[in-house]
Amino acid sequence: MNTFSNPLRKSRFNGFPEHSARIKTWLRQALNLAENVVSVNELSCSQAGCPPRQTVILVLSDTVAPRKFAVHKSLLDVVEEDVIAAIENGSLPANEDFSGDGR
Ligand SMILES: [Zn+2]
Repeated sequence: MNTFSNPLRKSRFNGFPEHSARIKTWLRQALNLAENVVSVNELSCSQAGCPPRQTVILVLSDTVAPRKFAVHKSLLDVVEEDVIAAIENGSLPANEDFSGDGR
């Protein structure tokens, strides 16, 4: 696998897993999370005045309700300050993205 072969193929997926991992690390540091499952996804956003993509961070826990943070930017555009700001804005209800496991 040579991911550097074609400079024209600079798709949004370039560095996607690496950047998701970075976002997870920033969130874990900011929230002092250790064991929680953190999931980072890029979803479409239809809100007026928003970029077409948003990044949604979901934090799952065995002990508290799932938390969701949204950054209204494409995943690859998210920087650490965005993650901090999303946390400061507070978490959103996570149930729309989290179907639950019957608990
Ligand atoms: Zn948006």
